Amino acid sequence: MAPRRRLPAPAPHARERPAAGRARRPKATEMAHDQGVPHFHNDPGVTAIHVGSREFMCIGARPPFDHPHVFIDMGRDDEVICSYCGTLYKFKPTLSAGEAEPAACIWDDREAAA
Ligand SMILES: [Zn+2]
Repeated sequence: MAPRRRLPAPAPHARERPAAGRARRPKATEMAHDQGVPHFHNDPGVTAIHVGSREFMCIGARPPFDHPHVFIDMGRDDEVICSYCGTLYKFKPTLSAGEAEPAACIWDDREAAA
């Protein structure tokens, strides 16, 4: 059973008011999925992945060995463990959003797969 994805907090620039008369968009998670939320995986099997943003998706490993893509929000913490694959993610302020150390843990193949 797949846990419900938590909705990511909107990025400041995305905090737009809904246009009048427009229905609520039902697929916020899918949109976030496609719009710049970084995806990380731990194919290299490192003990910890340093990331530049507190909100990201963990997919565990490169497809087809990925676990359900879960949105992770560290909140006010500086580290979090993915409940699926146990990867420890540590927030590193010197990294830009979407960056990771090791960089091999960034999953950007989804653009090619889309
Ligand atoms: Zn994971």
